[in-house]
Amino acid sequence: MSAKRIVQVALPVRLRRLFDYRVDHLAKVPDTGARVLVPLQKRKVVGVVCASSETSALPLSKLKAVSRVLDDKPLLPKELFRLLLWAAAYYHHPIGDVLQTALPVRLRRDSPAEPKPVVLWRISDAGREHLDTIPARYAAQRQVLELLVSAEGAALPSKSLSSTLPNVATVLARLETQGFVEKVVVDTPGLPRDREAPPTLNRAQQAASVSLEEAAGTYAPFLLDGITGSGKTEVYLDCACRTIARGRQALVLVPEIALTPQLIARFEGRLGSALAVLHSGLTDTERHRAWWRAREGSAAVVLGTRSAVFAPLARPGVIIVDEEHDLSYKQREGFRYQARDIAVKRAQLADIPVVLGSATPSLESMANAANGRYRHLKLESRAGSAKLPKVEILDLNRLALNDGLSAPVVGALKECLLRGEQSLVFVNRRGFAPVIVCTDCGWQALCPRCDARQTLHRASGRAICHHCGRQAPAPSTCPQCQKETLFPAGEGTQRVEEALVRIFPEAAVMRIDSDVLGAPDEMARALQAVRDRKVDILVGTQMLSKGHDFAGVTLVCVLAADQGLYSLDFRGSERLFQQLSQVSGRAGRRETRGAVLVQTAHPEDPAFARLREHNFAGFAKEALVERQTAGYPPYVRFALMRAESTQSGAAIRFLQSAALAGENLASRSAVEIMTPVPSPMERRAGRFRAQLLVRSKDERRFHRFLEDWVQGIEASREAARVRWSLDVDPQEMY
Ligand code: ADP
Ligand code: ZN
Ligand code: ZN
Repeated sequence: MSAKRIVQVALPVRLRRLFDYRVDHLAKVPDTGARVLVPLQKRKVVGVVCASSETSALPLSKLKAVSRVLDDKPLLPKELFRLLLWAAAYYHHPIGDVLQTALPVRLRRDSPAEPKPVVLWRISDAGREHLDTIPARYAAQRQVLELLVSAEGAALPSKSLSSTLPNVATVLARLETQGFVEKVVVDTPGLPRDREAPPTLNRAQQAASVSLEEAAGTYAPFLLDGITGSGKTEVYLDCACRTIARGRQALVLVPEIALTPQLIARFEGRLGSALAVLHSGLTDTERHRAWWRAREGSAAVVLGTRSAVFAPLARPGVIIVDEEHDLSYKQREGFRYQARDIAVKRAQLADIPVVLGSATPSLESMANAANGRYRHLKLESRAGSAKLPKVEILDLNRLALNDGLSAPVVGALKECLLRGEQSLVFVNRRGFAPVIVCTDCGWQALCPRCDARQTLHRASGRAICHHCGRQAPAPSTCPQCQKETLFPAGEGTQRVEEALVRIFPEAAVMRIDSDVLGAPDEMARALQAVRDRKVDILVGTQMLSKGHDFAGVTLVCVLAADQGLYSLDFRGSERLFQQLSQVSGRAGRRETRGAVLVQTAHPEDPAFARLREHNFAGFAKEALVERQTAGYPPYVRFALMRAESTQSGAAIRFLQSAALAGENLASRSAVEIMTPVPSPMERRAGRFRAQLLVRSKDERRFHRFLEDWVQGIEASREAARVRWSLDVDPQEMY
């Protein structure tokens, strides 16, 4: 019999290694995937057991002992645990930090794995009878019973009773001993009986549904490629319900929950309490409960944003990634994972199908569909009677603009108003004007902490840097020449809103951008106002383009399409195409055919011709050829090392030494290390930033190289002097 005396524990520290602890004082060696409380320097921290062994590289006497075993069973299911180990290795990120990401905040501490059950209260028959005879001095009891009566038989949590009564727990306890109220412990309901009936799937949806059903129980990646409104969400719902019927769970990832209230409402309507939603608005307790329901399997469908890809599942059946091209699936700091990519890996490890859905799939997924790694399911027409909008490209070189609006745009908005229909105007910057410039001496308002201009927010009279958030009162005279010749140049959403109010005084104009949206339900309220036709013209940023179904919108105007297209990033045109298609998808979702007007300074770009044809496949094909010729992903693997420091030059020096350190290893591994360069915006929030690209055509050797390289850098003395990170498969090259 082997005597395992050591466990290797992942700790919440930023080191790419495990830590050995003794367990020979325990009756039983803790399971892999269980949490333990261990001493670390002068603290006690919670770690996760990753392995156990008989020996350590250190002498046993030097090792500290595990203080307490927190889980007598593995907290993380085996399938998820394997996924997390894979992710730590793939992203070359400290395992301790990766495991933390997967745990709800509560469980990062030494709380018990199982949350306290939710207790609800219901009035009993005796309570109803008693209500009329309660003596006046028991006002609190009466109040509670009346509230429970008004719930019409439904059980309520004590929280909802406590708004007017501070001591509701005592009152409830007293009522319970008298038998006037009953405790209801929430159990695990299945699909509700009164859920909404699904529509009959059309032929294309049916075909997709059959393919997914046939793949049940095996690893099979699908690309569900269907234009906006083609009925993808119905396919997801159908797939989720079939998965539940097979006794398995569905995991559904969506880009941003606050921006997609309609989607959530549809899932709730169809699935009721079988659904657990994981979103950033949950309290720690609520999140812990939802996590637990997923782990125990009582949540048949788990829906959430990026981090939900790590939700534990008792019986995984399918993973669905909606809007798979969306940038929000990439974590942009710390553990920089791509949730869509992890979803595919997870499906592979769990041996289940995965569905990536989008109207404008990422070029990575298009390439995988083209080379046969993904099965390509297409929904080629809109589900209802709606037609695709007519797209018109307007040449900014030939048109005069007033506040960003050309005459054809103003004309189209006017006609739309006369028809009594709604329109949407996209501006890609918030604020009033992105530049404050002196017309006399040429001075511009720059952020003192960033290599960036300050944006004028005229309503609040402030100049705000959108990169670091720094604010200052907007200057009224030029700080350089002291003249009153400052001019706000360019357009933000506020300026366009003001202009539209001036041009169309009779119209109801509403603006939606992150400046007007504070609370998450504000978005839902604003969207409801649009659906109730209380708004004629809606002005907003890209945040409007995601997944909203505005039945009354028949005109969409995009005021400045060029910013994405000609950025330094090789993904610029892909982004632009995706955004414009999503935006066009907002026009004419019902019977009326919509129109989309796009203002651009580069109308000759072939991307616009494809956009006019609604030909995403054609665009993707051409763009992929370009990527292949230029040696870009998905044909070549990229990793970007970033560094930053408050000292000028320190970041780039660090990257230069990192590049040098990797040189020999790289040449042996078919890896190319590029020259370190300052980031496109070198200074941000007072820090100087630089970046280093490494690339390879050989994925396996690339990862072996990265592992050795990063280990070496982590151990080097230079690494302690700057902030640095490695971004595997970067989505943004800055
Ligand atoms: P997508 O997710 O591709 O944008 P949705 O699933 O939201 O498309 O469908 C667009 C609209 O068409 C929705 O209002 C939906 O209720 C409706 N719809 C989808 N499929 C059907 C169907 N088979 N029969 C009737 N209506 C449908
Ligand atoms: Zn001046
Ligand atoms: Zn700034």
